[in-house]
Amino acid sequence: MDTLKTAHQEPIALPPHQKRYLTEHATCPMCETELKIDHKIDRNGCKVKEVAHCPQCDVCTRSVEHELH
Ligand SMILES: [Zn+2]
Repeated sequence: MDTLKTAHQEPIALPPHQKRYLTEHATCPMCETELKIDHKIDRNGCKVKEVAHCPQCDVCTRSVEHELH
């Protein structure tokens, strides 16, 4: 299943901004449960807040804001 994750071969046609920033797969560093990732779009639609939450430990392991331009 590694074929899709080859960082060197990104099709040029892909939308440059969005998908690249969004972590689609992540696991909790403590219990290795797959994290639940939420993307909350700001009211103006110019920022996305990415929050990774572990349902097992009940903690937020990551919270990042991305600007959309
Ligand atoms: Zn966990």
